[in-house]
Amino acid sequence: MYEQIENQVKSAKKVVFVTGAGISQESGIPTFRGKDGLWRNYDAMKLATIDAFYDNPKLVWEWYNERRQNIFNSEPNLGHKAIAELENFVKVFVLTQNIDGLHQKAGSSNVLELHGSIVKIKCTVCDFKDELLTEFSNLPPLCKCGNILRPDVVWFGEGLPQDVWQEAIIQASSCDVMIIAGTSLVVSPANTLPIYAKQNNAVLIEINPDETIMSSDMDLSIRSTSAVALPELISIFKKQ
Ligand code: NAD
Repeated sequence: MYEQIENQVKSAKKVVFVTGAGISQESGIPTFRGKDGLWRNYDAMKLATIDAFYDNPKLVWEWYNERRQNIFNSEPNLGHKAIAELENFVKVFVLTQNIDGLHQKAGSSNVLELHGSIVKIKCTVCDFKDELLTEFSNLPPLCKCGNILRPDVVWFGEGLPQDVWQEAIIQASSCDVMIIAGTSLVVSPANTLPIYAKQNNAVLIEINPDETIMSSDMDLSIRSTSAVALPELISIFKKQ
């Protein structure tokens, strides 16, 4: 299966990963799309918005409290670990849409969190930001300034942190291989990163059990889960 990309992969100097919710599915963290995306009959896609938050901050915080507990109790799977191990062989950057911190927990050192982190909270009004691993008892939690605190994540319709996004473009535009794992590639602007890589003539490899809207642009599509496919794919780099 790997013959057509093996030589280019072996000579790569920089490998960039673009990851999404699917890479953490085998760690027990649900994705947003599909039946997994339902929480107490609410649609996760509709809860992860600024409008939902201001309509009902208590409800959105209840959802985040449950997600926070699940994520804090989760461990990286073989897919996250394979990416971390690849650093022993080649320069690696991980551009992730995930907010779960599992790439860092697996040992990856160059992780750009495009959509923020569920561990972090910030005030909706003042400059207060913090990292917090404990649960809130009163919801929604309040800042010392009296206003509501929110998770420091990027909701649908919000802009990405510009410094992180600019760095992601630089890494995508200068890689030799881009491996896109566990993302439907429907969320913008993260779904433009493969285009930056293609402009640099990078090899594009997708790992996803299902077809995506960019499958026809890939040099190779591996129809498997990331915990199965990533350790196999990474073994090519070890063969040099
Ligand atoms: P998505 O839910 O749109 O798509 C998930 C993709 O992963 C699908 O294409 C699916 O076919 C694929 N998939 C499912 N199981 C897989 C597996 N085991 N291995 C490989 N692929 C698998 O996810 P998205 O593209 O990341 O976009 C959704 C948004 O939701 C992002 O902004 C992300 O921040 C957020 N989100 C994050 C987490 C997390 O941090 N773990 C969880 C849910 C949602």
